[in-house]
Amino acid sequence: MRKIKILIFFLLSFYVSLSILSNNIYELKKETKRLNLLSKVYNKNFTYTDIYGIPVICYHHIVSDNWESKEKNIFHLTKNQFQMQINWLKENGYATITLNEFNKYLNKESVKLPEKPILITFDDGRKNFFTNAKPVLDSAQYKAVLFIYPNPININHDSFLTWQQIQTLYNEGHDIQSHTYTHPLLDRMSLSSQSKEFQLSKKTIEQKLNSNVQWLAYPFGAYNADTKNELKKADYEGAFTVFSGSNFPGEDKYSLKRILITSNLSISNLKNKIMTSNLSFLSIEPEEGSNIYDKKVIRVKLEKNLEFNNLRVEAGSDFVYNNLPAFFNYNKNTGDLTVLLSRPKKSRVVLTVFYKNIDGLVSQNTILYSSFKPPFIS
Ligand SMILES: [Zn+2]
Repeated sequence: MRKIKILIFFLLSFYVSLSILSNNIYELKKETKRLNLLSKVYNKNFTYTDIYGIPVICYHHIVSDNWESKEKNIFHLTKNQFQMQINWLKENGYATITLNEFNKYLNKESVKLPEKPILITFDDGRKNFFTNAKPVLDSAQYKAVLFIYPNPININHDSFLTWQQIQTLYNEGHDIQSHTYTHPLLDRMSLSSQSKEFQLSKKTIEQKLNSNVQWLAYPFGAYNADTKNELKKADYEGAFTVFSGSNFPGEDKYSLKRILITSNLSISNLKNKIMTSNLSFLSIEPEEGSNIYDKKVIRVKLEKNLEFNNLRVEAGSDFVYNNLPAFFNYNKNTGDLTVLLSRPKKSRVVLTVFYKNIDGLVSQNTILYSSFKPPFIS
């Protein structure tokens, strides 16, 4: 009886590993086919980043596998879930790069990158990074970028990393960047308050680590038109949203895309999110980030001759989940996309346009508007 059990177990594991392997091979074949086809059509050698850009992943909490708490939410991943995602990335040839390399790529400067570059980022600077995420990253030889906000660290809050731990991470090659000073909703703040958040955070981290802070992750993913100007003035090189998609040269460096990881995301969904391309917005009216409290129509210029049936537009106020389908019109001859916003609007509008190419490749892009009614918090 025992022998039979062992045999069944053996056959089952063999079957499982074989199906995982064949699935991976199938995906790799599809990927290679796409690259070859494009290279033939355009008579140029297409690389992985030409199509998929550089994806950036955004994590929050990695908790131990048996952790239960009232505070548990969709941003708590178990160590096992995290390990599986990192394994998938490693097995599929992804390699983490530095922000400096990422910046050179965005600026179209010459830089030698791995074939499948990726950035792995962590928001908030929670202590569980040190205990649960770091060992997994270490064994994969991956480096992370941590976006921290000094306020709780300075008062030695229990669930946040200490400055000493942050120093250790920095010495080991992980990057430490800014998530503002107090983690506010920036799109509701006055210009001067936003500016203070950026300057104080940058100064504090730089002094503590003797480092260079030039990147920010927007708390809650929220910002408005003023935010970007204030960041530039405060000497920030770029900023990360929580809008899905990938990053390509020539796009706005203050609205960088990130794949927000929630605990219900499967490996195949993660793969689809990583293997996404960018839908270029040639012009946007009104300007991204602006206040559209009294506006109903958004005009976006896309490429001409897209297939109407393969376009999809979603609008709403949610950063994390997909929003509702929106009414839109697309003129093939001019490339003009007109989106009608339904009322009532909450304090912001997130508008995402998806396009599915003939071979199944999805391109997408997102615009954020504020519809918050002043006065702003000072
Ligand atoms: Zn945060």
